[in-house]
Amino acid sequence: MKKFKVGILGATGMVGQNYIRLLENHPWFEVVYLAASTNSTGMDYASAVSGRWQMNSSIPENIKNIMVEDVVNIEKAKKKCDFVFSAFEIPDKKTIKEIEAKYAEIGIPVISNASANRFTEDVPMLIPEINPEHLEIINQQKKNHKWDKGFIVVKPNCSLQSYLTPIFALEKAGYPVEKIIITTLQAVSGAGYPGVPSLDIIDNVIPYIGGEEEKTEEEPLKILSNLKDGKFIQRKDIQISAHCTRVPVTDGHLACVNILFKNEKPTKEKIIEIWRKFKGLPQELELPFAPVCPIIYREEENRPQPKKDRNNDKGMAVTIGRLRDCKIFDYKFSALSHNMVRGAAGGGILNAELLVKQGYLK
Ligand code: NAP
Repeated sequence: MKKFKVGILGATGMVGQNYIRLLENHPWFEVVYLAASTNSTGMDYASAVSGRWQMNSSIPENIKNIMVEDVVNIEKAKKKCDFVFSAFEIPDKKTIKEIEAKYAEIGIPVISNASANRFTEDVPMLIPEINPEHLEIINQQKKNHKWDKGFIVVKPNCSLQSYLTPIFALEKAGYPVEKIIITTLQAVSGAGYPGVPSLDIIDNVIPYIGGEEEKTEEEPLKILSNLKDGKFIQRKDIQISAHCTRVPVTDGHLACVNILFKNEKPTKEKIIEIWRKFKGLPQELELPFAPVCPIIYREEENRPQPKKDRNNDKGMAVTIGRLRDCKIFDYKFSALSHNMVRGAAGGGILNAELLVKQGYLK
């Protein structure tokens, strides 16, 4: 198979660096194009990230000398890329939205990590194990904008899959959930580089991450919605309340979750069996980045832990533990996923692999 030529927008940042690390030797995708802000434009990649390369592996040899372009230089990207992963950060989300739309308009599909387009009406917010059927809206999106080859697909917030995948598995097995309370303990890598100042986070917990509680409460409702006649019919029968905190952990967002079922409450044994057996379309299609088991349940009373469980199945599996009775709701449990892999670059790569298999990326 001839490899797709891929660009990374925001290649110098934390998510961009993870894309570069994870795409080394990818069987379908080859990184040929890198873009970032004007601070990095015109430098070779190794110089642009000198002193701030955060990965444990070295910069791949074929990447070191690629000249970093300006994200807004879309014509240049068009000459080189079949599609792009978007992971650049600008405080003004409207500008990100406009730039991503320009890529799609010129014929370059965009697989985005940014939040700017998550609630755009005709843009699917994808977790491939949960809502692969939402990709159908791409045809409508292209029609709406008169885009020929280009389109935009986004992935949700970096902590979402840890609790939404197990909740979806329960709903799919016939146990709809009505109320959820989530407390996240989020790693510092989620704040980008250099991120939270060290004196603010060492020996500390910060009980506030701007915008994160809203994303935690609202994004699941779109992901779990039905797509009907070209529109997402948002779920209204689930209520979510979230606390989001920043903790001094490098990678891996942990979520403490309380759930109340709508109808019948399954036994603990049944829940664990549902989680262990759960598979989605990426597993059926054997996509290269798909974890073999999307949900791993651990019996030990002190797991999951970020340090020990974040890299399970290439960092793509969600690890759960501590399922127990709740005195107010039905049950409570802890769930963990790698925010930079499953929650960012790995999740983006899995989205792209599904788009290839479903014929949207050609
Ligand atoms: P980061 O480490 O701060 O990196 C920011 C990147 O954006 C750098 O490449 C930077 O380039 C570039 N950039 C900054 N200003 C720019 C501008 N004016 N024009 C073009 N590019 C600009 O941030 P990060 O953690 O990698 O996050 C990147 C994006 O991914 C953000 O939108 C973030 O919200 C999102 N994110 C998503 C997920 C997810 O998928 N769920 C998870 C984590 C993060 P220079 O190096 O040249 O400044």
